[in-house]
Amino acid sequence: MFILFAVPEAAPFAKTGGLADVAGSLPAALRGLGVDARLVLPYYRVVQNQNLPLKKMISGFEVPLGREKLKGNILEGNAEDGVPVYFVEREDFYDRPNLYGNVSGDYYDNLERFSFFSHAVLKLAAHFPIPPDCIHCNDWQTGLIPAIMKGASGWVAGIPTLFAIHNLGYQGIFPAEKFYLTGLPGERFFHPGGMEYWGNVSLLKSGIVYSDLIATVSPTHSLEIQTREFGKGMDGLLRHRSSSLSGILNGINVRAWDPAVDPLLPSAYTPDDTRGKLNCKKSLIRELGMDPTLVHHPLLGVISRLDIQKGIDLIVAAMDAIMGLDAGMIILGIGEDSIQKAIHHACRKYPRRVKFEMRFDDSLAHRILGGADMLLMPSRYEPCGLTQMYAMKYGTIPVVHAVGGLEDTVVSFGLSSAKGNGIKFKPADTGAFMEAIRQGITLYQNKKAWKRLMQNAMRTDFSWERSARSYLKLYRSLVGK
Ligand code: ADP
Repeated sequence: MFILFAVPEAAPFAKTGGLADVAGSLPAALRGLGVDARLVLPYYRVVQNQNLPLKKMISGFEVPLGREKLKGNILEGNAEDGVPVYFVEREDFYDRPNLYGNVSGDYYDNLERFSFFSHAVLKLAAHFPIPPDCIHCNDWQTGLIPAIMKGASGWVAGIPTLFAIHNLGYQGIFPAEKFYLTGLPGERFFHPGGMEYWGNVSLLKSGIVYSDLIATVSPTHSLEIQTREFGKGMDGLLRHRSSSLSGILNGINVRAWDPAVDPLLPSAYTPDDTRGKLNCKKSLIRELGMDPTLVHHPLLGVISRLDIQKGIDLIVAAMDAIMGLDAGMIILGIGEDSIQKAIHHACRKYPRRVKFEMRFDDSLAHRILGGADMLLMPSRYEPCGLTQMYAMKYGTIPVVHAVGGLEDTVVSFGLSSAKGNGIKFKPADTGAFMEAIRQGITLYQNKKAWKRLMQNAMRTDFSWERSARSYLKLYRSLVGK
């Protein structure tokens, strides 16, 4: 079985969010099951800067961009875990400071950039001596691939596609006038039953309409996206494709996120011996210049893109109430300017008890997971969510809105049963959120219960193997067709 995994980002090469983590670990898990899984992504500047040992595989392939033909190259290398990786190179599209945009918004030519990428994936597929059994596409940036495959001629025409939705909120919407740049015939693809979305082009819709199978990243979210409340305008279409839609929970890279061996932590710890966590907490408080007495109080962490999706407004609204409970808080995040400002405003009254680190910093993310007692994730919607799983592995108790993958991965702790790995609340309002935080702090003060809760969380199995097996089943069903 040969699976080509087409993604706009993959760890450790280029990352803005959870999709990169999935792309950085699912192919290796599939290889563990005997699948020949390979990865293709754009050759961004951040990748170039890593000076990877790469070979040129294809030079000067041409793809249509409207009436023009643009040239590009494909470079070939390997990820550390042995997964073959291909990079699509075209300097003017990908040699930029960021992946998708800058502070003023998305790059104006994202349709051109990802249309080029999608056509390049077809060139790559056609270049192999044996074609892939399936192209596993991910999010709107790869949404054109299923349509290109449907329109393709020659021996690559029949390659089936699986379209994975990691975040339905990003729909790749562009003005209709740009459709011709996709290189696809309008009469066949640009209509309401195709990739037209209320008069615009939607590359996400293209992926949903033209793929053979659709997957999203948790069972609960696969049901949610078929409802008006969570469907982001695509629910009707997703209901229509319901029989082709699955929800497969993401796993995590258990080697990269393990406090027993994490080189970024000052002390190691395990579920059987959690003593090192206290040292991680002390060291984190020192590193960030926070009030040293916080060591004896609950320390709450937030690691998040600052987007309305993540419910950060609830944290801002609850800040004074949380501080009234003698807790400390660390927020690591970057994103929307208005949210950044709101956080700055809410925490300036508590300079030594709340720290806002406004940047993307993977190493600090590890140290927060090591040093904090709880992780707040009040997301309005959450397709799967990885941070809560990392937190659990670090014995940092997640306090989450019971939605999507948060509902599927977090089990509420019960004092009498001593079962469960976190704290969930519903609905997503400040009252319910504060109630959950109070419950967490009460548990934190009960040393025996807290220890048990930490151990339950750390022992939860989030390894990729089970999910990889579910994907393998989907690929097999496609190959049989
Ligand atoms: P999403 O993909 O919606 O952003 P996930 O929880 O699935 O949410 O994945 C987020 C990933 O990005 C996690 O690995 C998290 O640790 C990481 N992350 C988010 N913001 C930051 C940040 N500011 N610094 C470091 N890591 C971050």
